[in-house]
Amino acid sequence: MDFQQLGLAAGLLRAVSDQGYIEPTPIQQKAIPAILDGQDMLASAQTGTGKTAGFTLPMLQRLSTRSSNGRRIPRALILTPTRELAAQVGDSVTTYGKYMPFRAAMVYGGVSFGGQARQLRQGVDILIATPGRLLDHVSQGTVDLSAVEILVLDECDRMLDMGFIHDIRKIMARLPQERQTLMFSATFSKPIQQLAHTLLNSPVQIEVAPRNTAAERVEQVVHPVDRHRKRELLSHIIGFHNWQQVLVFTRTKHGANRLAEQLAKDGLKTAAIHGNKTQAARARALKDFKQGRVRVLVATDVASRGIDIDQLPYVVNFELPNVAEDYVHRIGRTGRAGNEGRAVSLICDEELPLLVNIERLLKQSLTQDVVAGYEPSFSPDTSTVKAARSPGKPRRRQQSHRRSGSSSAPRRAGAGTRG
Ligand code: AMP
Repeated sequence: MDFQQLGLAAGLLRAVSDQGYIEPTPIQQKAIPAILDGQDMLASAQTGTGKTAGFTLPMLQRLSTRSSNGRRIPRALILTPTRELAAQVGDSVTTYGKYMPFRAAMVYGGVSFGGQARQLRQGVDILIATPGRLLDHVSQGTVDLSAVEILVLDECDRMLDMGFIHDIRKIMARLPQERQTLMFSATFSKPIQQLAHTLLNSPVQIEVAPRNTAAERVEQVVHPVDRHRKRELLSHIIGFHNWQQVLVFTRTKHGANRLAEQLAKDGLKTAAIHGNKTQAARARALKDFKQGRVRVLVATDVASRGIDIDQLPYVVNFELPNVAEDYVHRIGRTGRAGNEGRAVSLICDEELPLLVNIERLLKQSLTQDVVAGYEPSFSPDTSTVKAARSPGKPRRRQQSHRRSGSSSAPRRAGAGTRG
């Protein structure tokens, strides 16, 4: 299944392709057609499932196919529990809507009210808001919610946990009765079901398995080995265990190409997938890999964003990533949907500090296993090794956090990061 089959417009397909996504995730496959069809929805999906694109893409399309009567007042409202999430969703709306004519604004606490009011006055089609600050704007008359056609409640269970239920109800009272409402929540608890019952009209219900707890589900092992013997060890492991579908991560595009060539010489059917390859070449490699024509797929972190494979059994870190979070994303490619997964990391001397960072992030030390015949010439003991310095390049996710938290304006007392 590809994005085209979901019935998305050309501008959205282009934005998706710019992101390097090849296939819709399970939640996108289910949610996008139903939302395009105008249905209400109750979806259980956690962060990491692709849920944001799952509602943003069809929302943008619905807005573009329905007339706005030439007015620029909010036609879509997305409520989130925290300003960090609002900023992330805002980024997604900008990313996926870059070929669409809409203007989006974010409204959350902790930053200037006046600036937001000015932006609202200038005209906004899509509003991303935390409930508290939105209500402030409602009571000050700086926002008009009477034209909202689509309402999204993101991370609804967290909003209820944070005590936003009364705020949400007050906001509902300002919205038109006739609208499309989409609720996203990690759980279908009783309070969520009750809220759904009052807000939704014959909703489609969707559930997808959580993804982000990979570190708990995936069996992880570290093989200490000298750098120059890594490739040999990798071929040995694949052959010895007769692994048939292995995703291997390298740090660089060049490294990915070189490793793929070497593995091919070892007689393993291998393809490489990275940012220098065309979308078509990447799609072909992925298809061959999925269908078993290619046994080993070598990828860089960036290219792997476009890979969505259910039941991928093995992930190998040929080199550890510089950023510990990327390790979690990498191993999250396996062990999905209750299947067992195995993540193997080949680490040489210089990578010990990166391993220390990863173990800190995971709050667990990883099992080390020296493979007979591949004994390293260094001591793999990490207890005396200092953590690696974090790399200078800022990460996208952190950037959006910084932006959302960059204001020196005081936060609402006691509100923490709530709006
Ligand atoms: P979310 O669950 O919405 O927080 O998304 C998790 C991550 O998945 C984000 O970094 C998205 O960029 C990425 N993503 C969303 N849709 C896809 C897709 N179809 N293929 C690959 N990655 C995706």
